[in-house]
Amino acid sequence: MKLDITLFGALPFRRISKTAKRQRRTHLKKSAPTVGTCPNCGAALAPHRACTKCGYYKGKEVIKINKEETK
Ligand SMILES: [Zn+2]
Repeated sequence: MKLDITLFGALPFRRISKTAKRQRRTHLKKSAPTVGTCPNCGAALAPHRACTKCGYYKGKEVIKINKEETK
């Protein structure tokens, strides 16, 4: 039986060595998320977001937080 080369599709000409693969992946790493603190209430907060606990951003109350719902 004759093998049809078109069955395999595109294949890499050379295998990537373990070293080359590992060197390429040295840049693939997760970074810890940036967390700030609310200057109004001190809660942990994503940067450039209004505080989810007190509703303040840049010293002003921008969201009305219902204290009964947040409990
Ligand atoms: Zn706050």
